[in-house]
Amino acid sequence: MLGDRPLGKRCVLSTRSVESAVIKPVVKFQTGGIDFSAGVRIVFEMLWQISGGIMRTLRAIFIVLVLSVIPLRAGAQEDTAGQVEDRIIAQEHQEITTLKQFSPLVETYIQQLRPDKDLNTTVPAGDRYFLGRAVLSKGLELESLTSGGGKGHRMMAGLGSVFTLQMDFLPRGFLQMIYLDDSDFDRAPYQFDYVHREFLGEIRCLVFDVTPLPNAGKGRFTGRIWVEDQDFHVVRFNGGYAGSTAGSFYFHFDSWRVNAGPNLWLPAFIYSEESDLRYALGKRLQFKAQTRLWGYNLGRAREEEELSKVMVESPTTVDDQTQTANDISPVQAQRSWDRQAEDNVADRLERMGLLAPPSEVDTVLEAVVNNLEVTNNLDIQPDVRCRVLLTSTLESFTIGHTIVLSRGLIDVLPDEASLATMLAHELAHIVLGYRIDSQFAFFDNILFDDKDVFRHFGFAGTPEEEQAADTKAAELLRNSPYKDQLGTAALFLQALADRAKDIPNLISPNLGDHVPISKAIEVSAAPMVSSATPPGSPAAQVPVALPLGGRVKVDPWNDQIEMLKSKPVGSVAEQERMPFEITPFMLYLTRETSSTPSETPAGTVSPAPASQAAPNATQPGASFVLVPVKP
Ligand SMILES: [Zn+2]
Repeated sequence: MLGDRPLGKRCVLSTRSVESAVIKPVVKFQTGGIDFSAGVRIVFEMLWQISGGIMRTLRAIFIVLVLSVIPLRAGAQEDTAGQVEDRIIAQEHQEITTLKQFSPLVETYIQQLRPDKDLNTTVPAGDRYFLGRAVLSKGLELESLTSGGGKGHRMMAGLGSVFTLQMDFLPRGFLQMIYLDDSDFDRAPYQFDYVHREFLGEIRCLVFDVTPLPNAGKGRFTGRIWVEDQDFHVVRFNGGYAGSTAGSFYFHFDSWRVNAGPNLWLPAFIYSEESDLRYALGKRLQFKAQTRLWGYNLGRAREEEELSKVMVESPTTVDDQTQTANDISPVQAQRSWDRQAEDNVADRLERMGLLAPPSEVDTVLEAVVNNLEVTNNLDIQPDVRCRVLLTSTLESFTIGHTIVLSRGLIDVLPDEASLATMLAHELAHIVLGYRIDSQFAFFDNILFDDKDVFRHFGFAGTPEEEQAADTKAAELLRNSPYKDQLGTAALFLQALADRAKDIPNLISPNLGDHVPISKAIEVSAAPMVSSATPPGSPAAQVPVALPLGGRVKVDPWNDQIEMLKSKPVGSVAEQERMPFEITPFMLYLTRETSSTPSETPAGTVSPAPASQAAPNATQPGASFVLVPVKP
């Protein structure tokens, strides 16, 4: 149990020199808001004298006192500090066991940073991207979904020029941050110190500082934990793994779990950051990273639920069409065939957790597409639909008549006109007669392994097709209600072009198009740029691009998405704008009380999402205001 553990187990970074990332143990005695009676204080002081600094005894008694003051829950008063610790540890062991049944998707996106003297802050300078599936039944095993298949992604293994020496990020190192201590979380190697009580969103938590005892071995968690006070699940832990050595670094991280039902807390968001990691001869590394997990419920229960729903429906016949023509013309047959191919591909992507189920966000996108169609007198059959790809990469593509925008792209768009610009490009592909590979209408053609999805599906057009789509998109926009607001869209594209070399992996699509940094759109919008944003005008205060996570929140259990609903934050300083950047997660945790997760119908909009994930919901204009267009 004690003693050194194998090196490299908790390594997320390998190099040669040393910089420890240990948080110093702190024993806290203040307890916000708790008023000790005189009697209590006397007991406390007496014990202090008797024990002569035996901290553990003192601490244990102290926790008992605190717990007897806080109405934890029925019967909790009898808990001693040791019992509370035991319950936390037992629950954490149970968590590891429970998680073994899941294979969620894992995405880690890392931005290296460099100082920017003008802004007096740091800005991105190189990035890394990883997308895979964590097979938790096998520990921390990761199956990469993008390696070999992704177009243009330089995977973790490939060292860019940003890193000199043998320095690299290991995706497993970030995945490991879903556990406090995946092998040996126990009372023996750790000291628990109660800090205070605190709400994380709606969840009342007991907060402890946890530190490894001397000789507890390397890679022990050291930091602060938040434990919900009903069943003693750790719902957040913030700190690091102690004992970085030559050749291995442990990063600081803030790991969040969200509730998906009784006794089910899912690791979902991890923020990691190092501001001054020194390695080799005077080299410094600064980075920020976000790890997101979702798709826990993939391939579980959903089919059975649908089947059982179907079985209880009253029998109906399809006789309501008998008065109209039932036969299908060749043109209709071809359209149905293409639609089937489109549905097959979308369904395949949804089942592997890449596409969000139909949601309110789709409706927002479709309303904008409708505005473009109506004002351009387009009558497209079958109807154009919109879906959302769940990844952070900025990309868009079209599957038949289904337009797909990535979550990352929607996140960073500053306004509705720039959203319309992205959608207009894909709509242009449809208008210009792009058709899906109808081979996908044959069901055997979509029955391949998940890890081959990126190899089989690729929706990027040829350079000629992209050029034609850009030109057509500019035309569609000129007729649209957005024609006078394209200034911000142009500024957005300009900002993206300026940042492109610093975030190459964020703008490398997995499946679709690069975000069109289009000459045609820039030209069509150029007159508006100067008139829309004279320097110093209020319009110049509009952000040109938002940070990642600025608009869409994802339920890690069922992949349901919705628009963030956050309060406006008032004025935002220049260094707070952080276009295309990673920011910390700060979640509003809730408890899923309606039903057990397996009873939640998949594919329907849940009235109470598992988690109110509201990362960095702090930008002005965080929701699109739709321009209404009368048909
Ligand atoms: Zn395109």
